[in-house]
This record gives sequence, C-alpha cells and structure tokens, in this order.
Amino acid sequence: MSLISKTRTVFRIARANPKGWRSYVWNTGMAQMRKTWPLMAPVYLSIEPTNACNAQCPVCETGKNEMARKKGLLDPDAYRDFIDQVAPTTNSILLYFMGETFLHKHAYDMIRYTRDKGIYVETCTNGDFVDAKGIIYSDINKISFQLGGMTEETHQRYRAGTSLAKEHAKLIELIEERRKHPESNVQIEVGFIVMRHNEHEVPAFLKWAEEIGVDVANIIDPCVRNMFEAYAYLPKDKTYWYYDDEAFEAGILQPRVLPQNECMWIWNSLQINWNGEAVPCCRDPNGKHILGNVFEDGLLSVFNSKKARDFRKQVLTKQGDVDLCKLCSGYGLPTMQKEKPAEFSVIRHTTSSEELDEIEEIAKQAVQR
Ligand code: SF4
Repeated sequence: MSLISKTRTVFRIARANPKGWRSYVWNTGMAQMRKTWPLMAPVYLSIEPTNACNAQCPVCETGKNEMARKKGLLDPDAYRDFIDQVAPTTNSILLYFMGETFLHKHAYDMIRYTRDKGIYVETCTNGDFVDAKGIIYSDINKISFQLGGMTEETHQRYRAGTSLAKEHAKLIELIEERRKHPESNVQIEVGFIVMRHNEHEVPAFLKWAEEIGVDVANIIDPCVRNMFEAYAYLPKDKTYWYYDDEAFEAGILQPRVLPQNECMWIWNSLQINWNGEAVPCCRDPNGKHILGNVFEDGLLSVFNSKKARDFRKQVLTKQGDVDLCKLCSGYGLPTMQKEKPAEFSVIRHTTSSEELDEIEEIAKQAVQR
C-alpha cells in the first residue's frame, strides 16, 4: 500500500469517527515517521481464550501437539478486569488464536461482556461446540466456521478429530436461531481452507454456502510452515497460493509480497495469549517474542516496553532477519469498525450445566494432551 493510499485510508477512518480513531491516527503516523514509541493504546487486540483444541490439524502447532507454550484457558476474571481497563481505547477484538474458542465454557459470557463495552468482537471456530443460542446471547459481531472439505473424508484429512456433519448441523442451527432474532448483529461466515486434497470441491462449497444462506463464503488460501507441509498440502492450482512460485521452484518458501522494513500491525495491534503474555502478532504461536504480560503490567506499558520498541526497530531496519516476518505479507492496515454496544436483551444462553461440564472435561483433556 503506497504512502498516499495509507494516508487517505487513515483520514477516511478519522472522518468516520470510530472508537479509538485518535490512537489509530497517532500510531499510524508514528509508523510512517518510523518512530517506535511513544504509542497510544493499540485499537485492535487478538486475545486467545485457549491454546487447547479438540482437533488435530496437521498444519498447526496445537494440532500437531508441537506447541512450545504451556496449554491453558483464559481466566474470565482477569479477562473482565482487562476489558474494563482497555474498553475506552479498543475498537476490535479477535477472540481466537491457537485453540478452539468454544472449548472455553465462559466464551459466550466473555464475548457479551466485551460487546456491552461497545467493542466489536469476532472469532473463528471449528464449530464442534458452538451453541446457537449462546452465540445470539453473546451479541458477537462475526463468527467464522472453517471447513476442511465437503465430505467427511476430505474435511478430516485436515480437520482431524472433528466431524463435518456436526459442523454443518451447528452452522444450520445458528442460521435458524438468527432468523428468530432479527435484532442480532451476528455476521455468519463460512471459510473453506483450500488444499491439495479438496481443491476440486470449491464449486460445491460455494453452491452449498449460498443455499444454506450464510452471509460470507470465504475461500481461504492455505498457510504452511515449511516445504514439507507445502508439498503435502498446497493446492495444484496456484491461484490459491499466497507463496512465490519461482522461489518455491528453488526450494524456498516465501510469500509473493514481502514487506520491506515496515508493518502497520505492530503499531496498531497486539496478540495476547491466554495467560496475558503478549507477542507482536499472530505469527508467533510458540511465544518466542514475549513482550510482557498485560494482565500484570497493563496494556500500554507492554505496548511501549523496551522489548516492543526493540522488536519494532528490528522490523524497521532488518525485517529480513526477523523470523516471524519471513512467511508474512504484512497485510496492509487493520480495519476499524464502528459498533454500538449491545442494546437488546435476550435470555441467557441455554446450554445446560451438564453440557458445560462435558465441554469443560474435553477442554481439560485437550490442555493435558
Ligand atoms: S510477521 Fe512481521 S510483518 Fe507480519 S504482522 Fe508480524 S511483525 Fe508484521
């Protein structure tokens, strides 16, 4: 994105006056001036409810059971205190990272609490534990179900340990529940992760998504971590590739577009793990670059810490040497949402205490795996 289009985007956002726009303009300006601090609070946060999962996806540190971090679940009280602290400046939260969001039995309440503070909330899920009434109750803005294929065989080739039939049923249940609640804000997305074993199913996926009435059908170009995974999972059709073809032929895995000593994300957002530890972005699943703990030290002090400043400096001067950036395109600018707090009241979600206990038990097993 050129400097002119970045500047235009930032001014357009400021005119729309979403929550946190002052931080966004200041921090983006600091990035343009190549200053690593002092920054205002980041407007976009990604927070991990858990890094445990019931699935065993083969291109995921959690799924492969190669997660270098301890597994656990976000403490709901620490989360609420944190939200109280950051609500005035936070525009959007992605409540998701290296695990299944709805394995956390307090997920719906945590989302609702965040929405009541006027923060836009979205998440991703494998769908297995989604409670339709819980989703409506939570007032979440966007939920993305992610499929691995259109048959149990292709779906489970990647989404090992999950069931396509179950995910379909949960999705349809949610669409039905939303029909009964026209006041709901939720946008329902279904994503199809295109891989070698399912690329022939893309037309069937699009037809099905239209028939069942989701809001967004998203064809997701796959991410892999190394050449072995690339040979096993990248589709034959290279229009689904995010990687550079020529480099690939030479045995090197790298994105088509590589950022040149710049990244708007680390000036405007922060990735927070379940225990409060913050890392620069979602390219650090194993917690190699811990910048501090936001539950202990507060958001602003971690965001402006020496470690965060040093990381930004390295991105500005020697990005080619930053391990995280080698497989990342930098993706332009974070988007800003203009959302009102949740306004409607609905009864509390109706998942029974037995069902919640069952989910808690599965979560415990996933944490111990
Ligand atoms: S990997 Fe590098 S370029 Fe990508 S978001 Fe993180 S810091 Fe930015």
